Amino acid sequence: MPKLHLITYGCQMNEYDSERVAGLLRDERYELTATPQDADLILLNTCAIREKCEDKVFSRLGELKHLKRERPHVLIGVMGCMAQLWQGKIQERAPSVDLVFGSAAVSRVGELVARARATGAPVLETGEAPLVKITARPEAVGQLKAFVTVMEGCEKGCTFCVVPVTRGRERSHSPASIVAEVRELAAAGVREVTLLGQTVNAYGRDLAPATDLAALLELVDEVEGIERIRFTTSNPYNLTPRLIRAIRDVPKVVEYLHLPLQSGSDRVLARMHRGYTRARYLELIAELEETVPGIALSTDLIVGFPGEEEEDFEQTADMVERVGYDNVFVFRYSRRPGTPAATMLDQVPEEIKAQRNSRLLEVATRVGAARSRALEGRVLPILVDGVSRKNPDEATGRTRCNRVVNRRGCRGARAGHRRGVAAAQGGRHVSRNEGEAARPRSPVEHAHHHPA
Ligand code: SAM
Repeated sequence: MPKLHLITYGCQMNEYDSERVAGLLRDERYELTATPQDADLILLNTCAIREKCEDKVFSRLGELKHLKRERPHVLIGVMGCMAQLWQGKIQERAPSVDLVFGSAAVSRVGELVARARATGAPVLETGEAPLVKITARPEAVGQLKAFVTVMEGCEKGCTFCVVPVTRGRERSHSPASIVAEVRELAAAGVREVTLLGQTVNAYGRDLAPATDLAALLELVDEVEGIERIRFTTSNPYNLTPRLIRAIRDVPKVVEYLHLPLQSGSDRVLARMHRGYTRARYLELIAELEETVPGIALSTDLIVGFPGEEEEDFEQTADMVERVGYDNVFVFRYSRRPGTPAATMLDQVPEEIKAQRNSRLLEVATRVGAARSRALEGRVLPILVDGVSRKNPDEATGRTRCNRVVNRRGCRGARAGHRRGVAAAQGGRHVSRNEGEAARPRSPVEHAHHHPA
């Protein structure tokens, strides 16, 4: 059987697409391998959100080139957002790449690989195609958590963001196809699903008849076997009172929301074209906390957006204190080709971005730790989903509000849903990287991760 090695960069949507590709290629008799050295086909599922992500891919391609010299029959492919953004330029810069294909061509991956193999000529497929729900997936023994993409694309037009270029306009999958996929997952033993979309709370507007995320959550809630439902990423602009009530009222939906703020300064938010002010965002937080007491909150923040002054940055840090986020993802602004902010004249020097990045992380870590301490002494249900990568003596799992909890003395712990077996004080505040390191092992290598 030929062997496939998959390397995934970027958001959960890429993780989801990688699983689909592994499933589709399994139907073509490809077997997953954890190492590139014995692979016949190596696919890199890429992210273009920041330049750093792209640099990592090109440096990995540089390493793989040597491997191809030793084993010339190996095919190397690049898929995902970089494929869509750079198209033929990828093969110009990395001639060892045999095939490049965008998200719309994922359903035809088997045919593309066969064509590259048969002709020996470079394959490039980055055109548009109708939205297809692919449910193929690799063998998932004992998998408790799964992602389910509910919509593709984004139409927000944030001036920093390349997603509208790489993933196109918003297109929602039908509620029936999503529920069918969740049913299949539940039958395979999955207990927690995360519904994915770049602006997941804009779900359903483009369907006929139109629907919304709150209605979808109710449908998914009815699927027997599923115990927890998460969704990401929400945009404050589309956060409705109806969805906030659904977080409270739909039993399996967890009390946690990832709500990207990006900046705490109205001046910067306007230049980012986010469609809300800091006052509006705070109103939403007040509504969330009033409707869903104790809700956990996380966010994405960008430092060094063009024109960001010290006072703008301080307003962002102030929002972290005011909202009291449980977890914060900080990104240094990165100029992306084809986006309006890339040509703004007042770009911020890299050393100032780096300084603001570490200052903001300091505030976020302090605020997050205080939120964790507030849970001390409480007994919470934990979905135990594996063994810590750093320490095989520790089992790892998450509370409903997304706290990672590691427990010592659990060598070989069986994954499962434990009610009340792990107390919050047994855990600790886990930073993003530690949290990621605690993810269950997967044959699909994951190179870097951030929320969709
Ligand atoms: N769709 C979501 C939204 O806009 O709210 C976020 C999706 S994006 C994949 C994840 C995060 O990457 C964004 O929330 C943003 O903080 C960050 N990001 C996007 N473009 C960026 C850029 N050009 N430079 C730095 N960070 C960026």
